[in-house]
This record gives sequence, C-alpha cells and structure tokens, in this order.
Amino acid sequence: MRHLSIRWRLTLWNVGVLAIIILGLSVAVLVLVQRYLWSRFDAELAEELREVVEDVSPYSLKEPVSNVITRRYDLHTHTFALVRTADGQDLLRSRFFVNLDLPLPDTPESLRGTRYDDLLIPNLGHFRFITQAFRAANSQLMVAQIAAPTANLEREYRGAWWTLGTIGPIALLVACVGGSFLASRALAPIEMITQTAERISAEKLTERLNVDRSDDELGRLSTTLNRMFDRLQESINEMRRFTADAAHELRSPLTVIRTEAEVALRTPRSADAYRQVIETTLEEVSRLSDLVNQLLTLSRHDSGIQIADSEEVPLDALLQDVAEKLHILAEQKQISLSITDLPDVTVAGDDVLLSQVFYNLVNNAVHYTNPQGKITVRGDRIGDEVRVTVEDTGLGIAPEHLSRLFDRFYRVDDSRNRASGGTGLGLAICRSIVESHHGHITVESQVGRGSKFAVFLPVKRTKNET
Ligand code: ADP
Repeated sequence: MRHLSIRWRLTLWNVGVLAIIILGLSVAVLVLVQRYLWSRFDAELAEELREVVEDVSPYSLKEPVSNVITRRYDLHTHTFALVRTADGQDLLRSRFFVNLDLPLPDTPESLRGTRYDDLLIPNLGHFRFITQAFRAANSQLMVAQIAAPTANLEREYRGAWWTLGTIGPIALLVACVGGSFLASRALAPIEMITQTAERISAEKLTERLNVDRSDDELGRLSTTLNRMFDRLQESINEMRRFTADAAHELRSPLTVIRTEAEVALRTPRSADAYRQVIETTLEEVSRLSDLVNQLLTLSRHDSGIQIADSEEVPLDALLQDVAEKLHILAEQKQISLSITDLPDVTVAGDDVLLSQVFYNLVNNAVHYTNPQGKITVRGDRIGDEVRVTVEDTGLGIAPEHLSRLFDRFYRVDDSRNRASGGTGLGLAICRSIVESHHGHITVESQVGRGSKFAVFLPVKRTKNET
C-alpha cells in the first residue's frame, strides 16, 4: 500500500484535531444556548404570570375582571392567560384557552410553588405552561396559568445549530487548505535537500547542502548530511588513490618482466643470458606476489575481518619468535637486536597476524638502520594495556612525514625505498591489524637518531593468573 506523503499526513492530523475541538466546542455552545434560551423563556413566563396575578388580584367572581384587562389579554398573541377560582370558575380566560383541555391541578391547594409543564397541543404545536396558586385581595384562593408556544425558542435554537453547523465545516476547509500550504512551506527545504543529495553522486562529490540556519532541525540535518558527504568524499578519494597506487605498483614489475622478455626474444641468446632473464623475471614475480598478498590482507581487513577474541597469544613467545626469524638479517648488517623487559601477559587475537605486525616493525628497523646500529624491543604494562616498543638507532623520519606514515603506499623516500623493494604497505597493514585487535600504534622519530614505534594492545590475562 502506498503511504500518504508527510504533507498530507500533517494536514490530516491538523484537520482531525481541529474537527474534534470544533465538535466539542459546538456541543458545549449548543448546550449553553439551549439553557440560556429556556431560562430566558421561563423568566418571561414568570414575569407575565406576575403581571396577571397583579392585574386580577383586586377582582373576584362577584366583581368580574374589567373588560379593559380581558381585552388586553385577548390581544396578546404570544402568551395566553387563565385565572380560575378554587371552585373551578374562570375569572380571566384568553380566547386561546377556550375549548382547550388544560393541565390544571384539581385544586389550587394542591399546588406548591410554581409549576412548569410542556404540552404538545394537536395542530398548534409545543407549548410551555407556568401555573401558580395565589390569594386574591379578598383572600380567595385562585390559580393563574400562562401558556406560550415554544416555536420561537426552537427557531432560535435551530438558528444557533445551523450557524455552528456551517461555521464548523468552513473552518475545517480553511484548516485543510491552510494546513496543506503551511506543511508544504515547512517541507520545502526537505525537498531541496533531497534534490541536492540526489545530485551529489560519485562524479559531483564536492557539492554540499546549503546551511542557512544551523540551529533548527533542518539546519542540523543538513550539517549532518554534509559531514557524511565529507566522509564519503574522503573515503572515495582514498579508494581512488589506493586503486591508482596499486595499479602503479603492479605496473612497474610487469613492465620489467615484459621488457626483459621482449629483449630476450629479439635475438637468439646463450643459455646464461636466458637464465639471467628468467632470474630477473622470478624476482619481479616474487615482488608482484608479495604486493598482491599485501593488498589482499588489506582488502580483507577493509571488509571487516573478524578476529577470534577467544584465542590467547603469549606476547613474549611471539616476540622471541619474530626476533629469531630476523636475527640472521640483523647479524648480516651487524646490527644488534635485543628483546628486554617483556611482561608476562597474553593478548586476545590472531598470533599469525600479530607476528606480522612485529615482523614488519623489526624488519623495517633492520632495513632503515645502518650497520653497527642497535634495535631494542621492549614491553611494559600500562593499566589494562601492554605497550611493545620497537626502537632503532637508524635513519629516523622527518616530522612532516610522521602524520602520513601509516597511509597506504606512503614512502618517505620514494625512489630509494622502491629500489630497495619497499611497497609502502607494511605500516598500513600493521595499523589495520592492530586496530582490528582493539589497539593502536604510534611513532616517534628524529632524523639521524632513530625511530620508536609503539604498539598498544589490550591485555587478556597475566600469565600467572588462573
Ligand atoms: P616499506 O615497504 O616501504 O618499508 P612501510 O609501510 O613499512 O613501507 O614503511 C613506510 C615508510 O616509512 C618507509 O618507506 C620508510 O621510509 C619509513 N620507515 C618505516 N620504518 C622506518 C624506520 N624504522 N626507520 C626509518 N624509516 C622507516
């Protein structure tokens, strides 16, 4: 089912709430109007009754009511009067009362206070009666009655009903149109945001949403989306850089292999010459294969590799193992490699990946340290973490390179490192592995004095703990 747009939903809610309010108010107003009309009507009847009693009081059966008074009541078109003595004889009777069967009490004595009755008189409609007993001037007990049709009152009430019944729907219609207009005005910036966001594609990554008012909801939404676009642009740019760098790195060994093969095929050569070509090719292929492996490792980490937290890796054994592997290389360069102060702890994670981190760091240290230099691997515990430092007395790194040192394909001295076989991926892989183990890696360095790489990892357990 298709959902209504926010604009229409807002409008309908608006109209719905207003309809309930109008309905409630109308009912309240009608009840009040009805009460007011009836009480006003009753007050008029009571006033009329008071006048009749006053007019008739001086008279009695022996002394009939003057013609002037009788005629006056005959002339009344909206109220009709009747005054009757206790023995049932009429002292005053408007023409209207003639031949009518009226709701009179049997005796005036049985009347207590003022009585109101409503009657439907056939062919004449609804009437309201007020009846009261009173004592005339000669102490004679009498009953006075006033009747009036309620048609006017009902017409007035219907008028109020119709007025409210007309105003209500008109108000709802206005609310519907106004609400829809206001909703579309309020939602217009969202439409603009949607259009701009749609335009921001991989090709137009630099475009951003306008943030006119950063303090309202839409301003905050635009700012958040802009920040998201910044991050998106940054990661797409990084991806593009990475792809370009990877292609560039792959191209160099491939070009060497191709050129070597083409040159070798041009003229017949000796077996030694062919052997040399094959050796060069093998060398380049092994470089290629290292590079592809490193790229693969990084892309696995990018796609969120899961590190088994349950596996416990004893740090001292792991570092001894790495040192053993690189011992001969260090010895060849007459570099002393020592491991000291290793805490007795284990870390949670993958031992192969963690070995690769320290192998890369020590290998780099050997690589970038001159003969007679010194490499020290040290470990200490800081709170819940263990810090392993790999310190060398090598070439050092200039401060301007330090912030980008862990970036992919970043090399301090491009030509020299490329010639020495470096890909610029080693430290990027280190950072990726350390971060996937919930740790972090830092570097401090001084040109000509040496570098110090520190890896921080959460401790799983101290070894002598049970
Ligand atoms: P590479 O394969 O080129 O060694 P890395 O990512 O391992 O790539 O290192 C990036 C750059 O950092 C290297 O090119 C090198 O210039 C510099 N570097 C790394 N380790 C050291 C070190 N211990 N001493 C001096 N420079 C280093």
